[in-house]
Amino acid sequence: MSELPDGWEMVIGLEVHVELATASKLFCGCANQFGDEPNTNICPTCLGLPGSLPVPNAQAVEFAMTLGRALNCSVEPSIFARKNYFYPDMPKDFQTTQYEEPTNVEGFVQLPDGRSIGVERAHIEEDTGKSTHLGGGGRIHDATATLVDYNRAGVPLVEIVSHPVMHDADTARAYVAELRDILLATGVSDARMEEGSMRVDANVSVRPVGNDELRTRCEVKNINSLRSLGRAINYEARRHVDLWTNGESPRQETRHWDEDGGRTTSGRSKEDADDYRYFACPDLPPLTPTAEDIAAIDAAMPGLPAARRSALAVAAGVEVAETTLTVERGLDALVIAAIEAGADATAAMKHADQNLSDGQGQLTAESFAALVAMEADGALSSTQVKTVLAELVANGGEPAAIAADMGFEAMDTSELDTLLDGIIADSPDEWARFVEGDRKVQGHFVGQIMKATQGKADGKVVNQLMTARAAQS
Ligand code: ZN
Ligand code: MN
Repeated sequence: MSELPDGWEMVIGLEVHVELATASKLFCGCANQFGDEPNTNICPTCLGLPGSLPVPNAQAVEFAMTLGRALNCSVEPSIFARKNYFYPDMPKDFQTTQYEEPTNVEGFVQLPDGRSIGVERAHIEEDTGKSTHLGGGGRIHDATATLVDYNRAGVPLVEIVSHPVMHDADTARAYVAELRDILLATGVSDARMEEGSMRVDANVSVRPVGNDELRTRCEVKNINSLRSLGRAINYEARRHVDLWTNGESPRQETRHWDEDGGRTTSGRSKEDADDYRYFACPDLPPLTPTAEDIAAIDAAMPGLPAARRSALAVAAGVEVAETTLTVERGLDALVIAAIEAGADATAAMKHADQNLSDGQGQLTAESFAALVAMEADGALSSTQVKTVLAELVANGGEPAAIAADMGFEAMDTSELDTLLDGIIADSPDEWARFVEGDRKVQGHFVGQIMKATQGKADGKVVNQLMTARAAQS
């Protein structure tokens, strides 16, 4: 839902920088490791010392192409370019990136609700070092000194650039959440927003509804969570509407999201591409993947979230939108295998969503299916099922044996029938009301049976028995 006043529409494009989970950096052998002592993973190449030369990391290139294919991009022959700017965290005074001929072009991300968000490109580039500004609340303007850590300089990145086709913050959040799931599924990044291995910049502008123009945008940086992403977009779009409504206009600039203040603040005015004086990097050869290379990447591609949601929806007979949580938790293979082993689909989905939030642990599809069957037969009450399930997750085993160990004896239906006979005999008035359709008295009978069985009876089975019995009388 857009939070803008009537008549206004947001236009959002996202640039997501993803650090690739390689052992070493993009153009040298230094370790790609978060959290090490500052300036310990450095060498002449990633410090940009004279005479050093870059050598591309084959694993990084393969990860980048894998990600491109996972984003439904076409993987093209590509070249590296130099993006020139002077910045203390960029020791070479240029960033090696891709500009005119990126590796991955024109793909899309499919959201759980079925919508597709277009991806313009996903190019390879190196990360910068990290500056820490001392004093002035960590802001560069008021800092008394700045420390620079070059451990991150040269870490391989893929920058995923969406088309400006999102019109509310929720869609932007869903897109980033889906990207994260794709990154985790492919294993190309650990996608930790809080550690900076996935960094989202939001290009935000607004326009009157029904208008196709792209007005001046601002790029909001420093967004560290999905929640901040939504807040930052809503704040920034509202700021633009207020400016336009007052006869002013936003300035094209980079802005910082201030989490505590709940607002964006002005950063540097945004350069245009011309200011970077891009040119093809003379030190690096083009990347020229063959059709066989790309076929090999496709063949090795693990199941991606969108396809897994569809497969689970078919197997369980539910809508795709109902499969999101199960797939996010990586429980879809378990549920599908349990269904194939005979488990009731609705019950398996229910347990996956409600009782397996920490994953399946030692639980196998066979024991899961067996447990779901015991619940359906009324051998175990729903409370007992939860207890047995927790034990299966923690230590594995066989559900019937665990239930027996825990003293959860099977209540067979004939035993319940006999009990019900006695209770009906004791409460003829209530039973007559139940037979006439008064469901309010149902609790009376279930309560009596639970009391007699010390809670071992399955309430659902008791309800079924009562309904069947009432139909006969
Ligand atoms: Zn290095
Ligand atoms: Mn970039």
